[in-house]
Amino acid sequence: MTFEDFDLDEILLNAIKKQAYHKPTPIQEVAIPLMLERKDILAGAATGTGKTAAFVIPTLQYLLDEPKRSSRHPRVLILSPTRELAFQIHKVVNQLGTYGNFPSVIITGGFKQSQQAETLTRACDILVATPGRLAKLVEDEHVDLSFIEIVIIDEADRMLDMGQGPTVHALLESIPTDFQAGLFSATLSGKGIEHFAEEILEEPEVVQVDAPNQQSEQVQQLVYLADNKAHKQALLASIVQDTSSQSVIVFCNKKDKAIEVTEWLQSQNVSAQVLHGDFIQAVRLEKLKKFKSNKIKVMVATDVAARGLDMLQITHVINYDIPYRGDIYIHRIGRTGRAQQVGIAINLVEHHDLKNLERIEYHLQQSLPVEKIAGLEPSFTLKSVLKNKKKNKKKPKRSAKKKAKKK
Ligand code: AMP
Repeated sequence: MTFEDFDLDEILLNAIKKQAYHKPTPIQEVAIPLMLERKDILAGAATGTGKTAAFVIPTLQYLLDEPKRSSRHPRVLILSPTRELAFQIHKVVNQLGTYGNFPSVIITGGFKQSQQAETLTRACDILVATPGRLAKLVEDEHVDLSFIEIVIIDEADRMLDMGQGPTVHALLESIPTDFQAGLFSATLSGKGIEHFAEEILEEPEVVQVDAPNQQSEQVQQLVYLADNKAHKQALLASIVQDTSSQSVIVFCNKKDKAIEVTEWLQSQNVSAQVLHGDFIQAVRLEKLKKFKSNKIKVMVATDVAARGLDMLQITHVINYDIPYRGDIYIHRIGRTGRAQQVGIAINLVEHHDLKNLERIEYHLQQSLPVEKIAGLEPSFTLKSVLKNKKKNKKKPKRSAKKKAKKK
């Protein structure tokens, strides 16, 4: 299948060519024709699958098919849970819309609201926004959603995780028109997302290119076991100092840990920076710019801060902490191995990480291979841990024994 098969306008085909997209990705193959038919869709697509273009391409085609004089009232609303993802989406809108006239505006927290209100007085067909700030601007009547014809909700699962569900509902309630809706989510399982979809979509076509527990085949995943913190740090240093590591994201579960790991890497003369949710937008963007231009080799990030990063050249994702949940793991490793490139996802596992690793492996329905770095071998194996676990299980506790005797 090619992009020409979708019967797209030359304006779009040329922009697609410019982006060097040679053929549609699986999510694009299914989602684009459905959206062009004006169907509501519920799409399960992890990050890195080309999901953004999957909704941007048909949206732009719609605007070309149904031209109206641009006004300050947006016709398309794209909602994102985080600022970074919103910027990423906006970038794709600009890239794919480069040969046409698709005025767009981005509204996220982290910037002066008065300036955004001013931006909203200009022509705008496509509004990309995070829910909280948009709700504020709607409330203050700086933007009118009465003319919306298409609504896209990206990373809906994350929106729900971040507690944005009610805000999104309120925003959609304020749209009087009968709009087409697309809801994209890394995972479609779970009551929350089902309920969300039910309320927002009308007879949606469900599209799932990636099963919720499926990870990109482009990513090689492995585990290194660590005896303790010093051992974990030594493993991390060895990986990031290896010549194959060109651009690395190290994930930590908490901000404080991310800061600690960054400082430690810096003390080892590794060019590392931390990215967490507390930075103002300008600082975040500056850091991302440096990382993208390879001025920084290692970005140590928390999950929220790393959402929406789109860097094809990321060679390694390292889980310094193992995430609590499978879908977070999938999101993390989706940062590498994007668009036909091979990436490596490494899990550094101390004893206290084993529980999370177990959960992740259950989610993936597979065991991740355990490997060793010469000179940094651990003193234990996963087998020995499992054996000990079994042994401990077999021995009934004294109190339990007593109870059994009494009976
Ligand atoms: P996304 O899942 O939207 O975050 O996209 C992941 C990456 O895939 C982005 O860098 C896109 O530029 C790229 N991409 C999207 N569609 C295609 C395509 N058809 N062929 C090659 N790369 C693509």
